Amino acid sequence: MRILVVEDEETIADIIATKLRREKYEVDTSYDGEDGLYKALSNIYDLIILDIMLPKINGLEILKEIKKNGISANIILLTAKSLLDDKLKGFDMGADDYLTKPFHIEELIARVNVQLRNMGNAKTKNILEYSDLSLNIRTSILTCKCTNESINIPYREFLLLEYFMNNKEQIISKEQIYNKVWGIDTDYESNNLEAYLSFLRKKIKIIGSKVNIKAVRNLGYKMEE
Ligand code: CA
Repeated sequence: MRILVVEDEETIADIIATKLRREKYEVDTSYDGEDGLYKALSNIYDLIILDIMLPKINGLEILKEIKKNGISANIILLTAKSLLDDKLKGFDMGADDYLTKPFHIEELIARVNVQLRNMGNAKTKNILEYSDLSLNIRTSILTCKCTNESINIPYREFLLLEYFMNNKEQIISKEQIYNKVWGIDTDYESNNLEAYLSFLRKKIKIIGSKVNIKAVRNLGYKMEE
């Protein structure tokens, strides 16, 4: 289970993260709204703990984007103000729970456990499949079902692969890929998409899969058999 903590008070974020790691969760932290939104949209989290008052992009705006993009993570909102307004807005927008600051860390952990238990059959969600490929999104291990060979996929390549597997046999433009994998404000020239794609193609080949990511002239790329 992977959790994202978006909280600009770094001490609080780090305490939450440490405590959750002790509970055997995998945890990432973001100290501002922009980074938080970027990570949230990677769609690799089961749960996002989201502070409302954040620099750059506030928590409610992040929540709106999360829902707009069909991200399935459960959301627990943190709010410094005990303003009823914020809470109601949050629930309107699809938050699953909230805590008012200051809170006891044990209280938060209990709420986290409840949320993740409620997700129930999370196991099926852990695996993305296409053709002979099976990607475990918790462990980043890619397996070819024909050869039974596996390989670990590093972070950027994982984001790329996950995006392709969620949009199999569809043409995806370079711009869409940059936005999804590197973030909206990326300078396109500075990232070498072709290089990452070739690393990824090699790994898919090494494990003996017949899947390929083809360049479609002037349009983008497409994953196919
Ligand atoms: Ca804050």
